Amino acid sequence: MNIHKIIIPTPYPIGDVNSFLVKGDRLSLFDVGPKTQDALDALKQGLKDAGYTLDDIEQVVLTHHHPDHAGWVDVFTQAEIIGHEYNDHFLRRTPGFMEYRTKFYREQLQLQAVPEKYLEKIVESKEALKLYGSTPLTKFIGDGDEVPGHPGLKAIYTPGHAQSHLIFLDESTNEVIGGDLLLDKVAANPLVEPPTDLSTLRPRALIQQQESLKLLRELNVAKVYAGHGEDIVKVNELIDKRLEKDQMRLDQLIQHVDVGSPKTVIELTLDLYPAHYRTELGLTLSKTLGYLDCLVRDGLVSEEIVNGVIVYTRN
Ligand SMILES: [Zn+2]
Repeated sequence: MNIHKIIIPTPYPIGDVNSFLVKGDRLSLFDVGPKTQDALDALKQGLKDAGYTLDDIEQVVLTHHHPDHAGWVDVFTQAEIIGHEYNDHFLRRTPGFMEYRTKFYREQLQLQAVPEKYLEKIVESKEALKLYGSTPLTKFIGDGDEVPGHPGLKAIYTPGHAQSHLIFLDESTNEVIGGDLLLDKVAANPLVEPPTDLSTLRPRALIQQQESLKLLRELNVAKVYAGHGEDIVKVNELIDKRLEKDQMRLDQLIQHVDVGSPKTVIELTLDLYPAHYRTELGLTLSKTLGYLDCLVRDGLVSEEIVNGVIVYTRN
């Protein structure tokens, strides 16, 4: 793949994000950084280093809708903006969708026995949403679709970290532009997000993420151009490490789930993350939920709704 990496700063704990310039029959930029001035400066400089300007970009392709990846779509006014259609909810942010989204999280928090006052800690504020782009997609792309202008470069739907998540497999080099599916330093959080059909059913994000990682492992790719950090070459080794780490956390969590005395999600989050739940409530809740989904999947734990709250019991 004729690919040029541009490293872009972000204001998020994850640190820098990577954008990839790919020259095919068209000139495409995969991911565009958060909507901050620093990020835009880095983007312009990176393009300049490769001999281009913003206006030369014919297509922006998004791996997923999170603001560190999709912010600066706004600056590519002449380009096609391509991604999974779910991105559009977050780029358009219609009042209808924003209301639905708040209602979705409110219901989830009730089910998890989290007090209503924490809602604003979980749902991104208006301020946080400013780092999102607001230019809608011009073209939807889904699982198995070829990226226009790049013969043999195929989108693969890989939900988990985000419900819009796609990776892009170059079939000739067996390399992948991987978004946040697999990162060298950390496991991307299986964030709780509204489902693609905008129903009230919460996607089982960690189970999705594990399935997406297993799918990547089956591809036996030579290299992953990751959304953060370094490119990854020992891909399957790292996937196994991530899956083993999940299993370790499952083994820890099961110790806290009792026979005959049901516990709520918030109680189990306090058990699993006594030091971090206060400062990182959203992240620790989504991780705990993810692990609970796996324990239910594996038949080790049962879930039921009692008085509007989900409770878990060991089988
Ligand atoms: Zn990211």
